[in-house]
Amino acid sequence: MFLKQYTSNILSTTVLLLCCGMPPSLPAVPIPVHGHFTFDGNEFAARDFGNQLHSLPWAVLHPKKVSDVASTIKHVWHMGPASAMTLAARGHGHSLLGQAQAPHGIVINMESLRGEMQVIKGKSPYVDAPAGELWINVLHHCLKHGLAPKSWTDYLHLTVGGTLSNAGISGQAFRHGPQISNVHQLEVITGKGEVVVCSEEKNADLFHGVLGGLGQFGIITRARISLEPAPKQVKWIRVVYSDFSTFARDQERLISAEKTFDYIEGLVIVNRTGLINNWRSSFDPQDPDQANQFVSDGRTLFCLELTKNFNPAEEAHVDKEIKSLLSELSYIPSTLFVTQVSYVEFLDRVHAAELKLRSKGLWDLPHPWLNILIPRSKIHTFADGVFGNILTDTNNGPVLIYPVNKSKWDNRTSFVTPDEDMFYLVAFLPHAAESEGPQKLLNQNRRILNFCDSAQLGVKQYLPHYKTQEEWRAHFGQRWEIFAQRKSAYDPLAILAPGQNIFQKSI
Ligand code: FAD
Repeated sequence: MFLKQYTSNILSTTVLLLCCGMPPSLPAVPIPVHGHFTFDGNEFAARDFGNQLHSLPWAVLHPKKVSDVASTIKHVWHMGPASAMTLAARGHGHSLLGQAQAPHGIVINMESLRGEMQVIKGKSPYVDAPAGELWINVLHHCLKHGLAPKSWTDYLHLTVGGTLSNAGISGQAFRHGPQISNVHQLEVITGKGEVVVCSEEKNADLFHGVLGGLGQFGIITRARISLEPAPKQVKWIRVVYSDFSTFARDQERLISAEKTFDYIEGLVIVNRTGLINNWRSSFDPQDPDQANQFVSDGRTLFCLELTKNFNPAEEAHVDKEIKSLLSELSYIPSTLFVTQVSYVEFLDRVHAAELKLRSKGLWDLPHPWLNILIPRSKIHTFADGVFGNILTDTNNGPVLIYPVNKSKWDNRTSFVTPDEDMFYLVAFLPHAAESEGPQKLLNQNRRILNFCDSAQLGVKQYLPHYKTQEEWRAHFGQRWEIFAQRKSAYDPLAILAPGQNIFQKSI
């Protein structure tokens, strides 16, 4: 490996000469960038939220301009198939198993391209944002214009490019679809270093490919995200069920109704001590005496979580609407809990939990998470087999469960869903206790997946990590051909996102 780095005064750019893995006869080609490369102190790029796989890159690019990303990719593209060099965009590094890492390659620190955002008002308002921007910053910027994105993730300290490369799913997805269904336009740099603007109308194949494309076809540098008028306040409601069928029936009814809540999710609670006391710090029980009697220990319970957005002048009307919607549900009456928070407080709720976990040293532990999409017709088989059986407690982190409508997903994107009109997201989100390590939870995940396989539930994993291409082919099913065709069109040397482990750079 040959490397030389110097600064050119004329261009005032950092120029990197690199001929990593090239035969010595090939000349070194300079990469002109306005930002800089680092070769030491790159441990952050070998870590992610999952904290289970760690691969150091050879270098990290901290771009200052989009052209820095294009020049670097172009350089690696020109090195040709003889070089082993690969490149990974790193958003906020909140992947679970090395997906944003580039072992011995170059990691592009997309967060250094944060900056200018522009809100365009009109009939279909949107924000034009850098892909390395955090969603929380996008939110704050849009709120200055009285607007906000429509579709969210539960946690906003993730980058635009990172979630659009996956899907971006939360309790608004039943109505608006995932974040990848709410994009007007992207600016993408392909695996050949070409800067391409794409949308439904222009370069549509690349546009659809990149959405949910796991970083395989290009690096997103800017995105135009669809906006709606932002509410000021949120009524945030929790109710509990002891019977899964009743819980699921109510969830499904709510996501199918015209008049309904603005956010619909759910939680599985298994053998939690002092559940209600825990909620008390932020929620008010509507019937405090009855709530006091409620015992969660040793039980499998299902919590429906709902919100209704409003502006102060609409409060009385919204309260009436909520009352009417709740009257049609069959939850345990003593378990109605309500609170009122600002829209930002609600959307940024997991950050508040993050700060608490950080203070206890629990945020940086390994996270052997498992996210599964389950067809509606199989959710009862899944619940019978898993909740209270394979899953015997939820003390190490939440288990989310909620249905979404497939009609809100665009099947031209790279994302694959189960083959039914409605499917559930079930997310097991534990941290591994320091004393135990992740193995016990990994075994539990394996048992859950084995159960899905043997019961032939037709599930798809979300944020998956597979070891072989065979497994990826099975994941994509009939969509594999188009995924592979897009790879050979936009990143034929398989330079991009090697940490997804889908395609190998052939050398
Ligand atoms: P990274 O981990 O940095 O990157 C993810 C992948 O995308 C990598 O392969 C990377 O190479 C690629 N990539 C990154 N930026 C770009 C780009 N600009 N262009 C092309 N490829 C790029 N997901 C949900 O859907 N809903 C949730 O509610 C949700 N909640 C979460 C809560 C927490 C606490 C955490 C840790 C994760 C959560 N996620 C959720 C998962 C999250 O959406 C993904 O892990 C996402 O990839 C994280 O974004 P990131 O910016 O950290 O991406």
